Amino acid sequence: MLSDEQIMRYSRHILLPEVGGRGQQKLLAAKVLLIGAGGLGSPVALYLAAAGVGTLGVMDADTVDLSNLQRQVIHATPDIGKLKVESVKETINQINPDVNVIMYPEFATADNVPEILPQYDLVVDGCDNFATRYLMNDAAVIYKKPYVYGSILRFDGQASVFNPPQGPCYRCIFPEAPPPGAVPSCQEAGVLGVLPGLLGLIQATEAVKLILGVGEPLIGRLLIVDGLGMEFLHAKVKRNTKCPVCGDEPTITKLLEENYLQAVCSVGSAEE
Ligand SMILES: [Zn+2]
Repeated sequence: MLSDEQIMRYSRHILLPEVGGRGQQKLLAAKVLLIGAGGLGSPVALYLAAAGVGTLGVMDADTVDLSNLQRQVIHATPDIGKLKVESVKETINQINPDVNVIMYPEFATADNVPEILPQYDLVVDGCDNFATRYLMNDAAVIYKKPYVYGSILRFDGQASVFNPPQGPCYRCIFPEAPPPGAVPSCQEAGVLGVLPGLLGLIQATEAVKLILGVGEPLIGRLLIVDGLGMEFLHAKVKRNTKCPVCGDEPTITKLLEENYLQAVCSVGSAEE
């Protein structure tokens, strides 16, 4: 049952026949794991909290740096030096006391993800390194959790929802990570500050739709955003039946840290 205060707080949701009081209760009961409290993670966390997603797990080992504030809008100048997960919790507590923020001040690894991910309904990717992305993709397939993908660089971004066997996983589309150094990070190549806001809100929208069970999720479609041209393109993407993780005869059936070693040595770049 919603309290009087909740009926007021969520009244614009409750007015929507596709959401209503029942949908709001689904949001309040939902548990979302957010990987990274940086550029993408900031708008995702702010809007999911405002929308009343009841449990938000946030994984990030980093502290807030001055160079983050150009785009990581959940953090403010007095937060510099604080753990990002603490800064997220403080901000969200002020926005919506209905939201329980669970802090994981650590990077995602093959050791901690199997303990954490099964407690959540879905995962939102706010990381910016390939090792973490492959790790979370494989984990999401193994633990059967929908995976809301987003990535950004310079003026461009991508988003999709991976939920095999409905549609592909990340590995079906990108079987191998590019060699280290082939694709620059935002730290090396820059990113327009507003771009993670744009892509992160697409991810937040997809997460809310998945929780409510409304609309057409970005499953089987890769959204490609060209920020300078302001063009949104959809590429149809299919599950690869030979995919090593979500295919018919998978070879990756559990997480092994040696397959994702780059994740633990990419300190400082896991926050987009
Ligand atoms: Zn796959």
